[in-house]
Amino acid sequence: MGYITVEPDGSGRKRSSITAEGQAFLTANQRAAQDLMIRTPPSGRENAPSQIIAAMDKLKSALKTRLSTSTLDASGIDSIARDIAMVADQILGDIPASSPAQSSSPAPFDSAPVITRHKFETRRRALTVQSVDYLTPHMIRAVLHSPELSDFTSLGADDHIKLFFPGDGEKPQMRDYTPRAYDTDACKLTLDFAVHEAGPATAWATQAKVGDTLNIGGPRGSSVIAPVFDWYLLIGDETALPAIGRKAEELGQGVQVITLVAVPDAADEQTFDTKAAGTHHWVHRPVTQAADPASLLAAAQGITLPEGKGFIWIAAEAGVARALRDHFEERGHPKVWTKASGYWVKGSAATSDKSLS
Ligand SMILES: Cc1cc2nc3c(=O)[nH]c(=O)nc-3n(C[C@H](O)[C@H](O)[C@H](O)COP(=O)(O)OP(=O)(O)OC[C@H]3O[C@@H](n4cnc5c(N)ncnc54)[C@H](O)[C@@H]3O)c2cc1C
Repeated sequence: MGYITVEPDGSGRKRSSITAEGQAFLTANQRAAQDLMIRTPPSGRENAPSQIIAAMDKLKSALKTRLSTSTLDASGIDSIARDIAMVADQILGDIPASSPAQSSSPAPFDSAPVITRHKFETRRRALTVQSVDYLTPHMIRAVLHSPELSDFTSLGADDHIKLFFPGDGEKPQMRDYTPRAYDTDACKLTLDFAVHEAGPATAWATQAKVGDTLNIGGPRGSSVIAPVFDWYLLIGDETALPAIGRKAEELGQGVQVITLVAVPDAADEQTFDTKAAGTHHWVHRPVTQAADPASLLAAAQGITLPEGKGFIWIAAEAGVARALRDHFEERGHPKVWTKASGYWVKGSAATSDKSLS
């Protein structure tokens, strides 16, 4: 296909090199390629039973054929990734052999989900504001542009990048933000800024205008949870809304997703463009009460967890996230199927508690 050249290297062996066309194809299909690379079968095939080698070869060949067809869209790729992840789970003995959605057996409440961790080269990029506006009264959306975004990669809805703002000395001030959306063809990145009283990130967003520059770093990596769950419950405050919206929009057709988000006002509610089967709950409280878990906790108590295997994702002020995590643990939801993060800490600038110690 012109993507590699193969030449003798002088020692009787052949050396393969990627061509410019091959590099361009890889860049254009980076997400699919990374998903495949992470699932490359382990070396040491000589020790594997021949049936397994034959089955792996069949899988590789099927993937090669399927991925080279131009008709495969994002949902097709998601569906293939989901199937492979489910088989991996079955091999590990995590779930019953039948599809989890159809299974009538009780879900096993002791095994951790399969999480694939992708690491990326840490890069800084200088972006230019292409548009900036209030999406809702307390959320500013900035669309940033740069040719340097042509190879930007973020595989997880709750990935974060670092934003750099001028500091007092030489060291910049850094803040974490979610890539709400990105388009490598158009070289665009969308960020949503929750508006609160103070801080360099909020100050930048409220004053940003078209043509301004913003320096970013990362993401350094993505943690992708195998999409084998029957349902997802996504809970958070306005700072988690970009990740919740992205996750809801990335879930496949008909997957059950429940969202619960605290925002200041009804006008701050958002709609998600998703094929998933969503139920969306909103609670309202002023930004000044964003570190009080009461309203989210009360609403969480009213949520009936669906049958089957579910994943609960929580992000908010650290104390709020902790209270919500404890609430679902008390209700018997397995810890390993819950991810809770403190996206900010009341009274402490530039602080998060990502794994809620
Ligand atoms: C993984 C990750 C992803 C994130 N993604 C986003 C995102 O996409 N959008 C987004 O808006 N935020 C996001 N956040 C949260 C954001 O990084 C923090 O809110 C950050 O502190 C804001 O920086 P700042 O310069 O405005 O305020 P800082 O200078 O950091 O803080 C100044 C003061 O404001 C308080 N404070 C910080 N945030 C809030 C808030 N939301 N409400 C009330 N008081 C606050 C602090 O406790 C401190 O007292 C994310 C955080 C993490 C860890």
